[in-house]
Order: sequence, then C-alpha cells, then structure tokens
Amino acid sequence: MYELLNAIVLNLDIAGIILLLVTLVPILKLKRELPIGSVRKLWEILSAMIIFFIGIYIYITVQYRIGNVLINRDIICILLFFGALFVLMVSTLSLRTALDIKRIYTLEIENITDPLMGISNRRHLERKLHEEFAKAVRYDLAFSILMLDIDYFKNVNDTYGHDTGDMVLKNLGAIIKNFIRVSDIVARYGGEEIMVLCPLTDGNHAASLAERLRQEIDKRVIVPADMEKEGREIRITVSIGVAEYLPEISTVEDLVKRADRAMYRAKHEGRNRIFLCNNSTSDEMTTVNVL
Ligand code: GH3
Ligand code: MG
Ligand code: MG
Repeated sequence: MYELLNAIVLNLDIAGIILLLVTLVPILKLKRELPIGSVRKLWEILSAMIIFFIGIYIYITVQYRIGNVLINRDIICILLFFGALFVLMVSTLSLRTALDIKRIYTLEIENITDPLMGISNRRHLERKLHEEFAKAVRYDLAFSILMLDIDYFKNVNDTYGHDTGDMVLKNLGAIIKNFIRVSDIVARYGGEEIMVLCPLTDGNHAASLAERLRQEIDKRVIVPADMEKEGREIRITVSIGVAEYLPEISTVEDLVKRADRAMYRAKHEGRNRIFLCNNSTSDEMTTVNVL
C-alpha cells in the first residue's frame, strides 16, 4: 500500500503536465468564443502563461528524472511567484467574465421586455407565438391565446393625464404577470392591448383563466403612487378575446385574427367581458360568452 502511494506521488509531476495540457482545451475554446476586447486579451495572456508553465514543468521533470539536480531555491521562488500570479489572473478573469455574463443577461432581458409594462415586447411575442403555434401543429397540442384590451382607456388619459395612464399600464403589466402561470407568456401587443399565450391549454380552460383575470383586474384598484396621498383611485376593466388553436387554423395570423374578433365582440357586447372563439370554420364565427 505504501509502495503504491509512493509510486503515485512520484508520478504526480507527469499528472500535473497532463492536467495543464488539458486545461488549455477549455481556455482556447473560451478564447475563441469571446469577442475581441480586453477580456479576450487577458485570457490570451493566461493561456501563454499556462504554456510557459508547461515548459518549466517539462524541463524540471526531465532534469530531475535524468538525475540533474536542478531543483534549487531560485526555481522554487520563480514557480511560487508565477503560481501566485496565475491564481490572481484566474480569479480576476473569472470575476470579469461573470460581470460580462451578467451584463449580457441584462441586455438580453431588455431586448425582449417592454420598458413601460415590464412584460414581453412585440418582437418576443411574435417569436414565441410562431414557436408555440408550430409546436401545436406538429404535435397536435392544445394551444390558446388571449387578446386583452383596456376598456375606455382614453378616458384615463384624458382625465388623469398621459403619465398616469402610463402608470396604470405598468401596474396592469405587473398584475397580469403575477396572475398567470410561469409557462404562459404575457406580452404587449400594441398600445394598451396585451396578449397572453397559453401553451397546452384548450379554449375552455383559457376562457376560464381569462374570466378569472378579468375579475381580478376589475376588483383591483390601480392607484399610482403619487396619487395615493390625494386619495384618488383608478379602476379599470378589460375586454378579452380568447381563441383556441384548431387543426383547421393554418396560420398564426388566422389564430390572432380570431382572438381579435372575439375581443371586439366583447367590446361590442358592452365591455368588461370575455368571448371565446373555438368554432371550426373561421367565416362563420360563433363566439361563446362564458360570463
Ligand atoms: P375601448 O378600447 O373600450 O374601445 O376604448 P379605449 O378608449 O380604450 O380605446 P382604444 O383601445 O382604441 O384606445 C387606446 C388608447 O390607449 C388611446 C391611447 O391614447 C392610449 N394609449 C396607447 N398606448 C399608450 C401608452 O403607452 N401610454 C398611455 N398613457 N396611453 C396609451
Ligand atoms: Mg381600449
Ligand atoms: Mg386598444
């Protein structure tokens, strides 16, 4: 047992060289992935240091193994110094890389988020809508969408001003985001129109979600912070059109059109209500009021 351990310890120098060579692979890959800039430069310096290290290791190992006693104080000092420098560079670079990743993540979120409502923007919505629709078609899955429009929102702007209108939109975005499931996607479709994508959800379930959402918005007081002191409160209602994916629906545009028509029907019938479009022929639209 002792001999085995001894043999392992005596060959750790070779294992060290192999480990350093292996280290080069992810570092070179990482370097290729990084954009040209200061972080990439630092990673290049780091890989040069590793190559330098490998050189010294091989040199010392060979010298030691052929019997030239070369391991003197100078070499130990050089190795310790470069070892410390190496650790410093790795930790500094790891921090900078982590900060870069965080920055990219923030940019990515900003890229898909509507700055006012804090929900997905139209661009992200289009991408997700096409993705989910394609999945529903391909695997014959349930899929529904909700088209939501604030009732008489122009009155809010006219009465309280555009800034307060903006605040209402912001609060509404937060309410809907907290209300729906994480697998659903909520996005700003247009001015004060919002779309919710409900994957794996049939029309009836989507309509019942829409109805619960309508009630939630109806009972919530949307009070912008600066108005709280004055004791004024703003309430809003929404009209929602729900459309279910059916095999007869061949395009995303068709599905959106159905949700839009259901929403306008809800407006037409008095607002603050839901209409569901789950009929098979698009010409003869029969909406079902689930109220
Ligand atoms: P209804 O939908 O019930 O028919 O009436 P409405 O008054 O809500 O009519 P419509 O949906 O056509 O009007 C949309 C209004 O929303 C008009 C526009 O001034 C307002 N709006 C759109 N985008 C924004 C926004 O980003 N901020 C604010 N404050 N208002 C917006
Ligand atoms: Mg409206
Ligand atoms: Mg509108």
